[in-house]
Amino acid sequence: MADRHFDLFVIGGGSGGVRAARMAAAMGKRVGLAEASRMGGTCVIRGCIPKKLFVYASRFREDFALAQSFGWTVGPTRFDWPALIAHKDGEIGRLEGLYLAAVEGAGGVVFHEHASFEDAHTVRLANGGRITADIILIAAGARPARDLLGAPGIEHCCTSDEAFDWPQLPKRVVIAGGGYIAVEFAHIFNELGAETTLVIRKTKVLRGFDEDLRDALMESMARRGITVLPEQQFAGVERRGGEIVATTTGGDRLVTDKLMVAWGRLPNSEGLGLDKVGVATGKNGRIEVDALSRTGAPNIYAIGDVTDRLALTPVAIHEAMAFVKTVFEGEPTRPDHALVPTAVFSTPEIATVGMSEDKALAHGHAIDVYKSAFLPLRNTLARTGDRSMIKLVVEQKTDRVLGCHVFGPDASEIVQIVAVALKMGATKAQFDATVALHPSAAEELVTMRTKAYSKTP
Ligand SMILES: Cc1cc2nc3c(=O)[nH]c(=O)nc-3n(C[C@H](O)[C@H](O)[C@H](O)COP(=O)(O)OP(=O)(O)OC[C@H]3O[C@@H](n4cnc5c(N)ncnc54)[C@H](O)[C@@H]3O)c2cc1C
Repeated sequence: MADRHFDLFVIGGGSGGVRAARMAAAMGKRVGLAEASRMGGTCVIRGCIPKKLFVYASRFREDFALAQSFGWTVGPTRFDWPALIAHKDGEIGRLEGLYLAAVEGAGGVVFHEHASFEDAHTVRLANGGRITADIILIAAGARPARDLLGAPGIEHCCTSDEAFDWPQLPKRVVIAGGGYIAVEFAHIFNELGAETTLVIRKTKVLRGFDEDLRDALMESMARRGITVLPEQQFAGVERRGGEIVATTTGGDRLVTDKLMVAWGRLPNSEGLGLDKVGVATGKNGRIEVDALSRTGAPNIYAIGDVTDRLALTPVAIHEAMAFVKTVFEGEPTRPDHALVPTAVFSTPEIATVGMSEDKALAHGHAIDVYKSAFLPLRNTLARTGDRSMIKLVVEQKTDRVLGCHVFGPDASEIVQIVAVALKMGATKAQFDATVALHPSAAEELVTMRTKAYSKTP
């Protein structure tokens, strides 16, 4: 006998799981949700939100310096890491409560337990409870890959998960990885005053992003004092007293206080008992789903990072809403993964929507490229800081804007709005017909008249 029966049972109380549970419960469905850790999942507890709070903290250093060019006298400043962690913890606790209330307030039942399958309709909770459900949604997220790509010494390393709770800011940090999480943490630690080294496997950070933005960021990191060691991995890592000593494949010897591995993330598909229910997994353990997020078992669906389609919070939420439409509103809805805007919260930040030059060419488009590089007005009195860059990739045949790439302050805020225009199929002529908002950085988007160059596939 099962303890409870639900119309929908959700495994995972993160971005995707909570949205699906809340929406289905609000429609009057009987909904249960199991969360093994804290409600809110990666985004709220150890991802987007605490990360962005850290980013804000890290940017004050430059603000204090710039303030003087506007006539301010800034007294002695001091950064207090434990205070940041305490304030961050307070806010994360508040958000965790809101996520719980969102499900319970809509009528859902939350089980603070690990869940795994017994059969396609039955879930076993860690406390021994048995739940049956008509539909089961796996929204179990992902975790940082904890390995040194085969080299010994991973036990001396940490991941982004732990960095959110460090008792002190280390004096020296080495980060392994060139993806957005590695880059963001490198900027955070560097701006907060830690000696920061980034060890990357490729020649540049942020594979897949537009080359001009990657180059601009690499230059900016060098200028800001982040050491980047390209085309390297680790030969080994050991602890000597209070220090960590890492040797790289290039022969560098790095002595540091913390070594954070950020090579990538792995879907949380282990321990779910998927073998009992015929749910197949693919590369790195991601759950295989069809275009409607359905697994091989007809009543079991999966969304979010556990499916490793596009590992972003708004995508997990979008997939959750498509799932609810498909299953409970009788309207089969495919999540739309086209033209998803994304940002890297480096300082300054990068944001992008649509195709890079290379991707456009690879898709067979002949393109015109429009570019503008400029010192932001805010930096002109001090005449220091990074030049911003705004770039449009336009399809020659149709004049459609295929991609927009921004490097500079508020890039994420700019690109979110540009994404609406691109989703509507906006052309370069329509950008040109829009009157500028002056003085702003974003006005460059509608004032670039001369193409920088053209390329054909
Ligand atoms: C450092 C960092 C920064 C990030 N920054 C951004 C950003 O700026 N913007 C952005 O869009 N995305 C960002 N992301 C990615 C974003 O956090 C994820 O894409 C998003 O949280 C995925 O949501 P999800 O619902 O799929 O999974 P999650 O939010 O990970 O939720 C899954 C939940 O399932 C629980 N769970 C797992 N297995 C079980 C089980 N068997 N039983 C019960 N519960 C289980 C887990 O404890 C977890 O709480 C970041 C991620 C990291 C790590």
